[in-house]
Amino acid sequence: MNVIESIEKSKGETLFSFEILPPLKGSHIDELFGRIDPLMEFNPSFVNVTYHREEYIYKKRPNGLLEKQATRKRPGTVGICAAIKNKYHVETVPHLTCGGFTREETEDALIDLNFLGIHNVLALRGDALKSDNRFIPDEGGHEYAVDLVKQIVNMNQSKYLSDELINPSPTEFCIGVAGYPEKHFESMNLKTDLRHLKEKIDAGAEYIVTQMFFDNEKFFAFVEKCREMGITVPIIPGLKPITVKNHISFLPKTFSIDFPDTLADELEKCSDNKEINEVGIEWCIEQSKELKKAGVPSLHYYTMGKSETVRRIASAVY
Ligand code: FAD
Repeated sequence: MNVIESIEKSKGETLFSFEILPPLKGSHIDELFGRIDPLMEFNPSFVNVTYHREEYIYKKRPNGLLEKQATRKRPGTVGICAAIKNKYHVETVPHLTCGGFTREETEDALIDLNFLGIHNVLALRGDALKSDNRFIPDEGGHEYAVDLVKQIVNMNQSKYLSDELINPSPTEFCIGVAGYPEKHFESMNLKTDLRHLKEKIDAGAEYIVTQMFFDNEKFFAFVEKCREMGITVPIIPGLKPITVKNHISFLPKTFSIDFPDTLADELEKCSDNKEINEVGIEWCIEQSKELKKAGVPSLHYYTMGKSETVRRIASAVY
């Protein structure tokens, strides 16, 4: 069952889902399973697996000159999706980005997923490389997520890049896209960002997963604005519990989000990570309960390796 089918089948009940990162290169898959196991008791409807493109590092050569090398710290998105599906019989949603792919490579990746029986994709643009000050598509790659959505929709209609294929069969991807209750950091304003979000839905995306937020009012206002402009698809809130002191500056900076005053005041009173973790869990429980009461399609947790924290939250909410 793909994401949309799960939402439809739930008949208004709020589902449980979460996102994981592929482990660092060289890790054993059991390490990842060890982090997923505690969350399986809540019957996740789907598990998202992020995609991490290459980064560039400079290595010193024996002659003293620097050599630029491409490296991927967290490869394995497709393999992990297949492994999770195989082990837990749960739907997986690989993230696929424009960055790092030509159109041909995108097509091949989608063919792999289709053959593996993975029929969900979260279609994203990806961020700029650290070495670039703006997102630059690969030559022959897509510039915006909407273009990626269109390519996937084409494949769902048997339209591959080559028109010389004999009887090409359609893929059957259920496509999700990203939305930003506090606007995407590159957008001029929320209205422009919403217009671009609507383009992704009009192109064929079937649901939206939001960036993390800590103020439910911002999520509710975002949903209202989406509805006003004719976006009718399910909007799934993304939630991240704050667990360590570093998050206090890292999360607002990295994800262009604000903490509400009450949360910021509570965090300022904490003297160590243990206290911060407790405040983060309590806040996320309250957020989750309110969102569930409002009838959101799923509570989607960004685990970022902290499955025990998400397990405690889920125990209090489901
Ligand atoms: P787009 O929808 O293409 O939008 C990017 C920007 O361009 C926005 O400001 C938008 O308003 C603007 N825009 C869109 N279309 C147009 C147009 N036609 N003309 C002009 N401007 C336009 N990144 C990863 O690398 N890997 C991941 O696994 C990953 N997972 C994510 C999961 C979620 C739920 C979210 C919310 C984000 C995730 N990201 C991931 C981060 C994401 O790739 C970045 O936020 C990226 O900067 C934007 O991606 P997008 O798909 O929203 O882009």
